[in-house]
Amino acid sequence: MSIYRCTHCKHLGEHSAPAGMGRCPQCGGETKLYDAVHFINQILARYTAVLRELDTLREESSGGVPPLQVASIH
Ligand SMILES: [Zn+2]
Repeated sequence: MSIYRCTHCKHLGEHSAPAGMGRCPQCGGETKLYDAVHFINQILARYTAVLRELDTLREESSGGVPPLQVASIH
């Protein structure tokens, strides 16, 4: 059992084949199949990286003042 997000039709689902390359049951396109834990770890890593970048951008756009302090000034 593996998890995939089809690179062709964007269908997200479970696949009966083990991790590796496989065919999307939705469109028949070839797509990469992932181990479930690996798949979730990759998504969490990207999510965490985006949150860090968002925090950095918010601080930069507020002149280094954390967003909550900016909100209390107005
Ligand atoms: Zn597909």
